[in-house]
Amino acid sequence: MSRIDTLPPLREVIATYGLSAKKALGQNFLLDLNLTAKIARQAGDLSQCDVLEIGPGPGGLTRGLLAEGARHVLAIEKDPRCLPALEEIAAAYPGRLTVLQGDALAINPRAHLTPPIRVAANLPYNIGTELLVRWLTPADWPPFWQSLTLMFQREVAERIVAEPGGKAYGRLAVLAQWRSDARIVMDLPPQAFTPPPKVSSSVIHLTALPQPRYPADPNVLQKVTAAAFNQRRKMLRASLKGLAPDIEDRLRKAGIEPTDRAEQISLEQFCALARLI
Ligand code: SAM
Repeated sequence: MSRIDTLPPLREVIATYGLSAKKALGQNFLLDLNLTAKIARQAGDLSQCDVLEIGPGPGGLTRGLLAEGARHVLAIEKDPRCLPALEEIAAAYPGRLTVLQGDALAINPRAHLTPPIRVAANLPYNIGTELLVRWLTPADWPPFWQSLTLMFQREVAERIVAEPGGKAYGRLAVLAQWRSDARIVMDLPPQAFTPPPKVSSSVIHLTALPQPRYPADPNVLQKVTAAAFNQRRKMLRASLKGLAPDIEDRLRKAGIEPTDRAEQISLEQFCALARLI
């Protein structure tokens, strides 16, 4: 059951602590607690989970996650100006919020989390894709997380869920869909944020698969998709010729026409080809 917390309104928090948005930190804040509660609900039942949040800022989504019943939230925030606002939230939810100040790319959160773990974040746009790729390519599988509920620029969200046959389809779609079920669960206009960004945003929910969708060596699949999509306008017999001298035969064995281009090839076909390289 959701309940909006009794802490001060976020606009007041921002004024009290002087949290003017910094562009360099990708700061576009969500100040509507009904909206942050709605985003938190997309992450599923959190009552038995630790939640990792990257970039809590003044804490709108953090408050949503806690009000929606998250067992514990670990929030990693780079901007030290946000810490007093986050301390207020920690005091209102004793023992349920831990804040680490620092760069999410440099901190390994695992030691601070107890499974089951879910990730929920309105990500800073400049590190969002890098974090997603890291979460999707751990050395072992299944990963440390059960699900990822993440805000991205809409264009990036569309690349994650893209099907073959269009411009949005590329390495990000292959990687995400090989390892997870991914879907867009909410669209948000720029005005939902303070300050409004230039583009629309979407929340995407990814559920980790227990094992990759089709068998393939991750390094080979990575090599094949990198070569195919780096020259996406070329026919595969040309873009992949460096991978094997008889690439045309191998393409045909994988059910792929050598004259096809990368964006026409399904995930299943890429995995079949990776198994033949
Ligand atoms: N979660 C808040 C919300 O929804 O209102 C803020 C989201 S804002 C899009 C991104 C947040 O990530 C900012 O608070 C920013 O300071 C923080 N941030 C930027 N780079 C970061 C990094 N490398 N590590 C951790 N946090 C970072």
